[in-house]
Amino acid sequence: MPRNPKIKSLYVHIPFCAHLCHYCDFTKMLYRLEEADRYLQRLFFEIDSYHIQDLETIYVGGGTPTSLNPNQLKSLIEKLSPLLKDGGEFSVEANIENASQEKLRILKQHGVNRLSFGVQSFQPRLLRHMNRLHDEDQTNIAISQAKECGFTNISVDLIYDLPTQNDADLIDDIQKAIALDVPHISTYSLSIHHATVYGIRGYLEADSDESRRHYDIILSMLRAAGYTRYEVSNFAKPGYMGRHNLTYWNNEQYYGVGLGASGYVKNRRYTNTKNFRKYLEGSTISEQEEVTITDQETYFLMLKLRLQQGFSDSEYRHMFKQSFTAKYPQEINLLLQRGLLHHRKNRWYATDEGLMLLDQVLLTLLKEH
Ligand code: SF4
Repeated sequence: MPRNPKIKSLYVHIPFCAHLCHYCDFTKMLYRLEEADRYLQRLFFEIDSYHIQDLETIYVGGGTPTSLNPNQLKSLIEKLSPLLKDGGEFSVEANIENASQEKLRILKQHGVNRLSFGVQSFQPRLLRHMNRLHDEDQTNIAISQAKECGFTNISVDLIYDLPTQNDADLIDDIQKAIALDVPHISTYSLSIHHATVYGIRGYLEADSDESRRHYDIILSMLRAAGYTRYEVSNFAKPGYMGRHNLTYWNNEQYYGVGLGASGYVKNRRYTNTKNFRKYLEGSTISEQEEVTITDQETYFLMLKLRLQQGFSDSEYRHMFKQSFTAKYPQEINLLLQRGLLHHRKNRWYATDEGLMLLDQVLLTLLKEH
């Protein structure tokens, strides 16, 4: 495929994990050295097929990229770093239990400048329940080692609404995440998927009132600690918003490579196969669809309204050749009256309440159109 100069971001999926978590619905499999070697070979072929260069962001996720052994990790990062422009953001997801000092050094030496650690919780009981293998001490050590290696742009992920989690657990998790002194924290409400251990065991998601109460605790604690919420689940200190994920939320195109990865290239959204054997054999893309102007608008509203900065009148007009207010006069009035939408300095935002009820906001806007 010829190079597309408009595309500035690349997502790379590494599907291997050292263990499988009870809630996990991602495309993943247990790490085996030989399979990982074969996978990387095929992945490099896929990357080459796009003739990628001059990227502004690269994000290596999974799975667990740091489940690769040091040689594999080095070859992956060496393959990717020449694709990034100077000043670009190069993020890698890391699991606490296998982000060794040696691997962190490899990442740092080869241009990675942002780490995203899967911490999830600090409570031993909850970590065991999720089948996570690390503990609080290991988290503290891994984050200190990352800082010693020279990483300043570090994010930690937490999960809330976990089975048996109480308010004291949640508050302790947020306090401990703040105490790590990292500039970015993501917090995700647990989703229960049927084909996971939690789904099979019949655990249920927290009800919406309970989940909302937990979210409000998180929001007030993180705001008080100097973090700004820039997206529903993402909080950052000034200057540390995740640039790669903003590509998705700004509805921009990106390459996605690897097992089960999704991409958005030349006005087509595609998803790669989740079948490991097929991927190795080269039947890479399993689904693709052309994005119509209606789809574009749905994505635009769905993604932009997740962001604290919303979207501007001129952005909407530029994309859809009419004004937002002319397209949705009654719906906008209704959402303004209900306090779910807000208009300030020529920008449209979901309010705090609207961010919590985004499905309703989108349904109101899109149902008749
Ligand atoms: S949550 Fe992460 S570490 Fe756990 S199984 Fe899923 S991809 Fe692997």
